[in-house]
Amino acid sequence: MSYTVTLIPGDGIGPEVMAAAVRVLSATGVAFEWETEPAGIAAIGEHGVPLPPRTLESVRRNKVAFKGPTETPVAGGHRSVNVELRKKLDLYANLRPVETLPGVKSRYTDVDLIVVRENTEDLYSGLEHVVVPGVVESIKIITERASTRIALFAFEYARTHGRKRVTSVHKANIMKLSDGLFLDCCRTVAKQYPEVKYDEIIVDNCCMQLVLDPTRFDMLLLENLYGDIVSDLCAGFIGGLGMAPGANIGEHGALFEAVHGSAPDIAGKNLANPMAVILSGAMMLDHLKEHAAADRVRHAVHTVLREGTKLTRDLGGTAGTTEIAEAIAAKVTG
Ligand code: ATP
Repeated sequence: MSYTVTLIPGDGIGPEVMAAAVRVLSATGVAFEWETEPAGIAAIGEHGVPLPPRTLESVRRNKVAFKGPTETPVAGGHRSVNVELRKKLDLYANLRPVETLPGVKSRYTDVDLIVVRENTEDLYSGLEHVVVPGVVESIKIITERASTRIALFAFEYARTHGRKRVTSVHKANIMKLSDGLFLDCCRTVAKQYPEVKYDEIIVDNCCMQLVLDPTRFDMLLLENLYGDIVSDLCAGFIGGLGMAPGANIGEHGALFEAVHGSAPDIAGKNLANPMAVILSGAMMLDHLKEHAAADRVRHAVHTVLREGTKLTRDLGGTAGTTEIAEAIAAKVTG
């Protein structure tokens, strides 16, 4: 059996880390047919747009995509390819596991958190306009439908993965209507899952509690913006962005990508840590029900980390992206 998967190399460190991940995935023996498609700045030159229709069609057809980071210009320029992809393909759930990895220096130990972020609305609806010169308005959209479905995703995940508690993160003391609606939906769904504990925390307090002791949380359920910020914060518990994998899941497809961006500061230098995309690849193997291969990839990453002789600069080592890929691939096959 061979899986046809859309492969989006992306911008900056994207092509390097994705090549590394493809190398490791091929070592598992699971057969992939990669449909390489452009997106991001890399696509603009040839196709005139950051998200060409052929890329979208490829993901729609294959229902599984493996994506490198794409660059989003700050203020002005094109809209985020990630936001477009998630909306157009209705990949409504962003799943980001945050787990302490062996051998990685961190002030935190035993972190084992699941961050579930709503992916399609909130302040990412892209509705911004100038009211009068000097005054702009950005519209936050929260709907009952999207809030209920992300809550269902989180509780279903808790039930199927043996998680004990879901904590909704909000600012409903200030945004009483929008975050209030989000909480109402979460509470209604929580009642259908009596075996999973449910509680709530205000987002600023959540950040403080996380920094003090991330082990007091099990699963965090957040709207889009809070989820974006809090998941980067959580990546800091496990050695930084180079270690944090992620998945975007919808009813008709799934896209796997690391939490980190295109890191233009280190692009093209063979310095990027490929572990986050490799671990995202393991999540993709799980999604394809290739659980044994997924476990082998994770185990190989853990072994390389534990040995500590092949680490990229962000983890205090001197090894390059390609060297790490070879070391992990050797453990997968060995
Ligand atoms: P975006 O806005 O696209 O999410 P970002 O602002 O979160 O991007 P990143 O591109 O993720 O920024 O980079 C943030 C910092 O983390 C940079 O200093 C970058 O070099 C570092 N970094 C990100 N990914 C990696 C990686 N895979 N390996 C090593 N360092 C990384």
